[in-house]
Amino acid sequence: MLILYQPIVDLRSRHVLKAEALCRLGTPNNWQRPDDFVPYAERNGLIRDLTDRVLERALTDWKLLGTSAPAGLSLNLSLSNLVEVDLPARVSAALKRHQTEPSVLWFEISENAQTIDDAAQLQTMEKLAALGVRFSVDSFGLGLSPTSLSELRRLPVSELKIDQRFVRDMDTEPAHRARVSSVIELARQMRLDVVAKGVERDETARLLERMGCPLGQGYLFGEPVDAPSLARFVEDKLDESRSFFQGTRIT
Ligand code: C2E
Ligand code: CA
Repeated sequence: MLILYQPIVDLRSRHVLKAEALCRLGTPNNWQRPDDFVPYAERNGLIRDLTDRVLERALTDWKLLGTSAPAGLSLNLSLSNLVEVDLPARVSAALKRHQTEPSVLWFEISENAQTIDDAAQLQTMEKLAALGVRFSVDSFGLGLSPTSLSELRRLPVSELKIDQRFVRDMDTEPAHRARVSSVIELARQMRLDVVAKGVERDETARLLERMGCPLGQGYLFGEPVDAPSLARFVEDKLDESRSFFQGTRIT
């Protein structure tokens, strides 16, 4: 298994604040992407083990990166992970083992999470939130109906990630721009963080910044890379900001 990390940046300063772990399975000559194996793992009871392995590896990498690790680490959870009643205990044990603060960890769950009506799933989320781990709703934007919004309010969610289908061409597609704008406004009203995914061009990043979107993720800022490359990325940005502050220092 290989875990790659994609930076999530502050759109104004372009500093890396978080990174999302994206897993690959296979061999160095033939890595498979999650869309090829996650649905299979979900159907065949393997997702529990996959999630544990990703969590273990990512927390190990974070510890090794030390001060070069971004402040936040985002992991993808399948909705089926939320029916595992011992998930909060496993996450808590892993955090203790790696001496990592729960506030470092974010779990991304899919937009369908709004339809969670199973008491057990909701309870798992609440227990994880009580530990101090935060939740993002991934690929948000399709379900913006009033019912889905009231569903969203029931969940312990701290962040919305805007679906890349709306972000990628938003500077040329007014309907997508309007959709992105509604999600940013909704996040502001609900006091949630918001990340625009799939930012590939500088025009898009500038437009998002003007629209008040604080965070971005996409090939413009960095493709998914291994842990040492992520550290270099974080360090480069830090060096840049150090020289920026040195350059503007009033002595
Ligand atoms: P996602 O959470 O929506 O992740 C973003 C996907 O978009 C990633 O594909 C990433 O490489 C790609 N991407 C990022 N920036 C850009 C961009 O600017 N343009 C374009 N065109 N694409 C971009 P990837 O790595 O193949 O992951 C696919 C999906 O697999 C993820 O979608 C996530 O839902 C799932 N996944 C990844 N790792 C895990 C895991 O450990 N557990 C579970 N349950 N699901 C995972
Ligand atoms: Ca994700």
